[in-house]
Amino acid sequence: MAEYAKPRGTADILPDEAAEWRYVEEQAREVFELYHFREIRTPIFEHTEVFERGVGDTTDIVQKEMYTFKDRGDRAITLRPEGTAGVVRAFVEQKLYGGPLPVKWFYYGPMFRYEKPQAGRFRQFHQYGVEVIGADDPRVDAEVIELAYRFLRRVGVQSLRLEVNSVGCAVCRARHKEALLAHLKPALPELCADCQSRYEKNPLRIQDCKIDHDHPLVRTSPTITEYLCADCSAHFEEVKSYLDELAVPYIVNPTMVRGLDYYTRTAFEFMEDSIGAMSTVLAGGRYNRLVADFGGPDLPGIGFAGGIERLLLARAANQAQFVQVDRVDVYVIAMGAAALRPSVRLIQALREQGVRVDLDYLSHGMKSQMKTADRLHAKLALIIGEDEVAQGVVGVRDLAAKTQEAVAVHDVVQLVLQILSESTQGVNR
Ligand code: ATP
Ligand code: MG
Repeated sequence: MAEYAKPRGTADILPDEAAEWRYVEEQAREVFELYHFREIRTPIFEHTEVFERGVGDTTDIVQKEMYTFKDRGDRAITLRPEGTAGVVRAFVEQKLYGGPLPVKWFYYGPMFRYEKPQAGRFRQFHQYGVEVIGADDPRVDAEVIELAYRFLRRVGVQSLRLEVNSVGCAVCRARHKEALLAHLKPALPELCADCQSRYEKNPLRIQDCKIDHDHPLVRTSPTITEYLCADCSAHFEEVKSYLDELAVPYIVNPTMVRGLDYYTRTAFEFMEDSIGAMSTVLAGGRYNRLVADFGGPDLPGIGFAGGIERLLLARAANQAQFVQVDRVDVYVIAMGAAALRPSVRLIQALREQGVRVDLDYLSHGMKSQMKTADRLHAKLALIIGEDEVAQGVVGVRDLAAKTQEAVAVHDVVQLVLQILSESTQGVNR
């Protein structure tokens, strides 16, 4: 191991990879703005209670996965494990419920969970997500799901499976819970320790357990869908019919309950099955109690979050290659002491015109610098040696055509612009 190694579960995103990150981030922003979502940025750390309240204290996140520490003022602080709690906290704290509703927001940034690192699972990972607060209309559910679908396909993830479900409201949940407790009671001694405590606190989540989901009684548990109240059931039917209207393919999975406690009604997940066990690329749902839980008015919300790391795995599985070449438009080759000052002035003048340009700082020889110009796919090399300085010219070399001419210093920038605008390489503006 290197003397200084990055913490387990983190990654260095090197420049070649960062280009692909930036590409998907830009695509996300573009698509979200197309649907009139606006960006919100909340702190990367919050008071621990925000997540205890917002994510739910029976969840794996709160029980096992949070990065929590005391700051120097002895406050309990947590690095955000997800985005929704902070967004809703901000919505309530800033009293934005007094303004136009619904708000349609997106966020993007690093999240932190103390998990067992593996493919597609990190301790620092990155999520993009959207939230709509203040509308319960099933068209909103469909819009948010269709938005996710469009975004994933736009960035090259074609082989998707969308599962939807409704987890109902407090009324449906109470009736379902009763049935579930009765059904699971005989299995209780055989369930894992986590499920035994879930039985008391949140039995719905036993169906979601990675250890016990194959237990015969867990497999045959009554599903929430069978217990939906008339309103929740009608809402779910409408959501599905709008998805049909928008031609978004989905399957109903009555056993899908999402990991977070705050969900009500619609829950959904997008899966890409070829990326291994961590196949969920994006997940979300409705959270009609969350705003009130934070002390705000009784306003409904819905959102989703997707992981960038898994999205990149899914892109690779879909052969959505992204090749970014390390390149410049122009490479300036300065030889000898007399060329130093004229060459820095020249690169400045070119950059002012939007030309992507670089030069050598390690006093490499001419041959080596020419090689670098080729490696960087430069259209032109501009050569300034002692002779050129003495004559007030610059050698302008077309690297593909292998032609070279001496051009008066004050004409060089214009000529470069002209050559670049005529070539396919163009000028980076
Ligand atoms: P999982 O079942 O994979 O643990 P989750 O239910 O904890 O997922 P959410 O909290 O809903 O996931 O997060 C939404 C998305 O964020 C996931 O679908 C996934 O793409 C991504 N994600 C969640 N946790 C991680 C992680 N530790 N590393 C990388 N991506 C993650
Ligand atoms: Mg998880």
